[in-house]
Amino acid sequence: MDLCLFVTHNCPLGCSYCYSTPKMDVNMTLETAKKSVDFALSHSHDEFQLSFFGGEPLLMWDLMQKATAYAREKCSEKSIPPVFTVTTNGVLLDEEKCKWLKDQEFHIAVSIDGNDRMHDCCRTYPDGSSSHDDSVRGAKIVQAYYEKFELVSVVTPENVNYLYEGVEYLIKEGFTDITLNPDFYSEWNEAQLDNWTEQFKLIGNLYIDCFRNNSPVRISFIDSKIITHLKNGYEQCDKCRFGLDEMAVAPSGNIYPCERLVGNDTGEHIIGDIYNGFDVQRMVEIKNGNGFASNEECLECELAPRCMNWCHCVNIALTGDMNTTDGIVCFHEKMTIEIADYVGGVLFSEKNPAFMARFYGLR
Ligand code: SF4
Ligand code: SF4
Repeated sequence: MDLCLFVTHNCPLGCSYCYSTPKMDVNMTLETAKKSVDFALSHSHDEFQLSFFGGEPLLMWDLMQKATAYAREKCSEKSIPPVFTVTTNGVLLDEEKCKWLKDQEFHIAVSIDGNDRMHDCCRTYPDGSSSHDDSVRGAKIVQAYYEKFELVSVVTPENVNYLYEGVEYLIKEGFTDITLNPDFYSEWNEAQLDNWTEQFKLIGNLYIDCFRNNSPVRISFIDSKIITHLKNGYEQCDKCRFGLDEMAVAPSGNIYPCERLVGNDTGEHIIGDIYNGFDVQRMVEIKNGNGFASNEECLECELAPRCMNWCHCVNIALTGDMNTTDGIVCFHEKMTIEIADYVGGVLFSEKNPAFMARFYGLR
């Protein structure tokens, strides 16, 4: 079971696209965290992942440390090796915290939206002042401790103009594992969509150059779509396990099928709570609905196996139905598959050694 503790509705930042808005000083108690671990472990057989999310989870540092120790103890009783992850905006990171996270073998994702021009379009402090330097400072500390970690940037209609220069900046700073998360929930106009395509094409060429210069990088939309080309699509194990082997718990103890749906815990997508267990009716609905989107055009689309139209939380936010996707997802998936296929084709035809090693296991 993947358990995500949404430990706080609070955050030092005020990103305009934040799904946890308005900020509230509502925090998880240690008792709720422990009860969540017990509940999730009672549904775990041989795997257990504990993720800390929010809001900004590092605001709840004491709870994070105690909940981690508790989960370790409980996992050891069941002989399950735990995996720990945290997603942070980096502004509260310091050497001591990073050292502890490293010692505890946490996987870390730091959110930075590229260079300062791109980042400060949406990712500022609540008074509108820049958070870029503080986030980069945090990410640099992580870089000193971790050989590999993920850097997450959100692509929005407001910052898409600066996307290429933002990614170029991150690579120059030595951040070589970059996830570009689209903001599907904003309105995108035609010009912004065209720009998005142009920027992604430039990033595709940048990716090729990095491989040619023997400094390969990972950029989520390119790597993932090349893999779906090689595997003929997503496998069941690649998809999220929305509510089935994956659950998120709000400070209230309410359970959601995905951390992205917790928001302000208003109750719309609750599938149970840690005190009374899962809502059986909701779980049956989820179980019956797990699969690809059922839009008519998807059923006949040759790209369907490689398309992420199965992301239920995106579908719910866009259409209200977990199995019905929306045009912006379709746009993104077609664009990313086309660019990734171009990039993969170029590097494959050159038999680029780093490319062949990563995707074909050839050295
Ligand atoms: S850092 Fe994350 S939680 Fe904080 S405001 Fe930005 S998106 Fe929201
Ligand atoms: S690319 Fe578009 S039409 Fe094809 S499966 Fe994906 S969302 Fe459906």
